[in-house]
Amino acid sequence: MSILSVVVPVFNEEASIEAFLSRVRPILDAQGLSGYEIIFVNDGSRDATLSRLEAEARADSRIRIIDLSRNFGKEAALTAGIDHAAGNAVIPIDVDLQDPPELIPEMLARWRQGYDVVLASRNDRSSDTWFKRVTASLFYRTMLRLSDVEIPPQTGDFRLMDRRVVETLKLMPERTRFMKGVFAWVGFRTTTIYFKRERRLAGEPQQKLGKLIRLAVDGIVSFTSLPLRIWSVVGALAAALGLVYMTFIVVRTLIFGIDLPGYASLLVVMLFFSGLILLSIGVLGEYIARIFVEVKQRPLYIVRETTNLGADAEHRRQVAGHRE
Ligand code: UDP
Ligand code: MG
Repeated sequence: MSILSVVVPVFNEEASIEAFLSRVRPILDAQGLSGYEIIFVNDGSRDATLSRLEAEARADSRIRIIDLSRNFGKEAALTAGIDHAAGNAVIPIDVDLQDPPELIPEMLARWRQGYDVVLASRNDRSSDTWFKRVTASLFYRTMLRLSDVEIPPQTGDFRLMDRRVVETLKLMPERTRFMKGVFAWVGFRTTTIYFKRERRLAGEPQQKLGKLIRLAVDGIVSFTSLPLRIWSVVGALAAALGLVYMTFIVVRTLIFGIDLPGYASLLVVMLFFSGLILLSIGVLGEYIARIFVEVKQRPLYIVRETTNLGADAEHRRQVAGHRE
């Protein structure tokens, strides 16, 4: 028995839902699955997204809605959807059709061959803006250098995950979610298929630059402690240099006596090192802020209401972690 869960986070996407469903449903219908569900996670939309979804869900009980109490961000919305997914395989996908649902058959085929994770990698991003391409590539290259886990470059959240991967994800308690990193960290038998990233279907990107920067900092801070450790090296180097210079001054003073100038160099050195000290305190702060968030143990998301989620209650209890 194979049941597929498609998880779709939505935030102010009233214009995209209908087109999304009319493209995804025929594909899912043709896969010979014993069942599927499309879980929409409404991430505090302020437009007609929820009422559109409710109308769809009334007509088709395989369409499920998790309505969050406010906007928690895409990562939290994804987590909510994955937590509630009942399928033996789960595929997170964006509603704006930038991830082509036509890849789903190929993902299922690989899954049936025995892979636990099927990544979809966008090897052609010509539809993204120049700025997004450059910053994204810069980010992935930095992460590859800094971090111990290998986060596959050019891979978004669009992927297929087997039930055992999903169960592992659920065990990860961290609040600061950098899903790409978490996905990579858990490992499992992984394979990749390639595609060209599409232009956004309708509306504006909902992940604004500020959000993406936060996400990048989250990613770096939650998957590497290098920014913390770097300061011991910088400190040690500065101390070593200071020692050499001190020796030089002492010897020179002993031999040639005292002379007064040196005000400018003193000031420059002071400014430089106060700057470094503040910077390193800032880096410490980034980590401490995250420790603080973790310690509070607040839930990652709050569900206001669900629709049709009870429909497969029996199956939901049964999903045991193996496929047939
Ligand atoms: N999204 C969300 N919450 C947010 C921002 C975005 O659930 O706070 C959803 C959005 O509706 C879409 C997906 O996340 O389905 C990807 O968003 P977007 O297309 O804006 O991001 P990009 O494609 O630029 O990464
Ligand atoms: Mg998009």
